[in-house]
Amino acid sequence: MNPDTKIILRDLFRNEERSFDFHMPFDDAIDVRAWGRAYLAENTLIIHLNIEYTGKAVCIICNEKFEFKSRRKEQYITEEVENIPSGVYNLENDIRDAVILETPRYQECCDGKCPDRTFVKKYLKP
Ligand SMILES: [Zn+2]
Repeated sequence: MNPDTKIILRDLFRNEERSFDFHMPFDDAIDVRAWGRAYLAENTLIIHLNIEYTGKAVCIICNEKFEFKSRRKEQYITEEVENIPSGVYNLENDIRDAVILETPRYQECCDGKCPDRTFVKKYLKP
């Protein structure tokens, strides 16, 4: 578990907000950078989370490995303090969910314009 993914509420009660910026490996193939800030608004933890990641995939057309980058994803996470009895909120699951939802299951190299596409065109549905 990456210690940087934890937001400790006690620290937020003392200071007004916490900024974070860290890298998290994900499934060995994706390197995630997450950054943002966390603060308390009365009894609610509010996290402004930005995610950017680079991954490796195999093109569904030419079968070659290629690298892809995600677009930056910004999201707000809110959680009532009473729902965090341990006093520690871990961002890991939120980051995993965002990456899984954002990454297409099947990918094509060259931003969807694989050079081999012309060779397989006759086998593809129009
Ligand atoms: Zn390709």
